[in-house]
Amino acid sequence: MSGAYSALQLVRNALTGHRGWPKAWRSPQPRPAYDVVIIGGGGHGLATAYYLARNHGVRNVAVLEKGWIGGGNTGRNTTIVRSDYYYPESAAFFDRSVTLYEGLSQDLNFNVMFSQRGMLTIGHSRGEMDFRRKLVNGMRLNGIDLEMVDEAQARAMCPLLNPSPSARYPILGGMVQRRAGTVRHDAVVWGYARAADRLGVDIIQNCAVTGVRRDPVSGAVTGVETTRGLIGAGKVGLAVAGHSSVVAAMAGFRLPLRSYALQAFVSEPLKPVLDMVVSSSVLNIYVSQSDKGGLVLGGNLDPYASYAQRGNPPTMEAVLSGLIEMIPAFSRVRLLRQWAGIVDYAHDSSPVLGLSPVANFFLNCGWGGGGFKAIPAGGETFAHTVATGQPHPLIKAFSLDRFRDQALVDEAAAAGIEH
Ligand SMILES: Cc1cc2nc3c(=O)[nH]c(=O)nc-3n(C[C@H](O)[C@H](O)[C@H](O)COP(=O)(O)OP(=O)(O)OC[C@H]3O[C@@H](n4cnc5c(N)ncnc54)[C@H](O)[C@@H]3O)c2cc1C
Repeated sequence: MSGAYSALQLVRNALTGHRGWPKAWRSPQPRPAYDVVIIGGGGHGLATAYYLARNHGVRNVAVLEKGWIGGGNTGRNTTIVRSDYYYPESAAFFDRSVTLYEGLSQDLNFNVMFSQRGMLTIGHSRGEMDFRRKLVNGMRLNGIDLEMVDEAQARAMCPLLNPSPSARYPILGGMVQRRAGTVRHDAVVWGYARAADRLGVDIIQNCAVTGVRRDPVSGAVTGVETTRGLIGAGKVGLAVAGHSSVVAAMAGFRLPLRSYALQAFVSEPLKPVLDMVVSSSVLNIYVSQSDKGGLVLGGNLDPYASYAQRGNPPTMEAVLSGLIEMIPAFSRVRLLRQWAGIVDYAHDSSPVLGLSPVANFFLNCGWGGGGFKAIPAGGETFAHTVATGQPHPLIKAFSLDRFRDQALVDEAAAAGIEH
């Protein structure tokens, strides 16, 4: 088990050539059975394991990861954290997550580098400005810190915005969330992994789940088949993002989700030029500058369902032309890397959280392109749900039953965002 990080530890290890640091987490052999098995070692799986141990005293827990922890979407995302959601259910959940992120470095004893640099979403027409004003008013009624800014204020925040009065997509102002920002994605994974490991959770990498065992009489889940053998489980939590439908099929049911590639891009490193997140829903582009100086860009999903984790050139072209329309000064910046992750969407663009049709098998999925910001609240509420067998009050609206009951939480339509 690793000791707590502190200034004293830093000094002590500096004096001994940094050879004495303990491993951040163990690599244990899987035990024959656990009280809880979480499938998927991304941010949600690891956070769930941590809160199960810390908040509920459930420590006989394994997180099974088919590759390496954080190798899925959590390590591939563009790290934007915000809570500008429209419906009260979404606002309460995602704002809880921002609040947890604000204290996460202290909580985990691991610097997750939350930079609350603010996020500006541009308005390009009078119609869009009216729409954004409606959103901002609704979100403020939900207690979220959104505000409208006019053109001069938007340009003061981001002087590089397209200065041309005859731009095809003129800049009229926008909406700002000042508590929004970016968090270092790897640090979130490593911080939760280390903290969960210290509480006794087994993190087992290179262990793919290949089947789900159920009791032939009751139908309840009894364990999982893996590439490292059969592992018994009192309860199983699903947290595999883009592969949720695949694992649900192993348990014998279907989910109302589709999986798509979502791409991201990073440029060569630049000196500091952009100190907030800037986005445009019309141009389908968002950009921030990383601590290393690269511009981190994203846009829309690839337009067809696929498990091919590579993306395609037309989406790349759309994102880059949107960026150059919004900030023409970036037209000569060179692109360094491009990648994709597989994300899973429900048709109301809200997550699916809670109970499943199989007893003792729980769902944490449907995050689409927006689940990184939700990791702390997702882990906290999912741990409560797994531990108690009852959905946490903050996630009741996101149950699988909402599709049966026609009680969708349609954030795509309401907030004009896909996630
Ligand atoms: C390009 C891109 C940009 C994004 N940008 C943002 C953003 O700016 N802000 C934001 O909030 N969200 C963003 N997202 C979404 C966010 O990354 C995800 O919603 C979030 O990381 C999901 O976390 P997770 O733990 O559920 O999934 P993951 O991190 O994908 O973890 C799931 C894990 O399950 C493992 N797994 C799969 N099948 C099995 C199996 N059979 N057995 C064992 N393990 C298995 C995978 O290997 C994976 O490591 C983005 C996503 C992408 C792809």
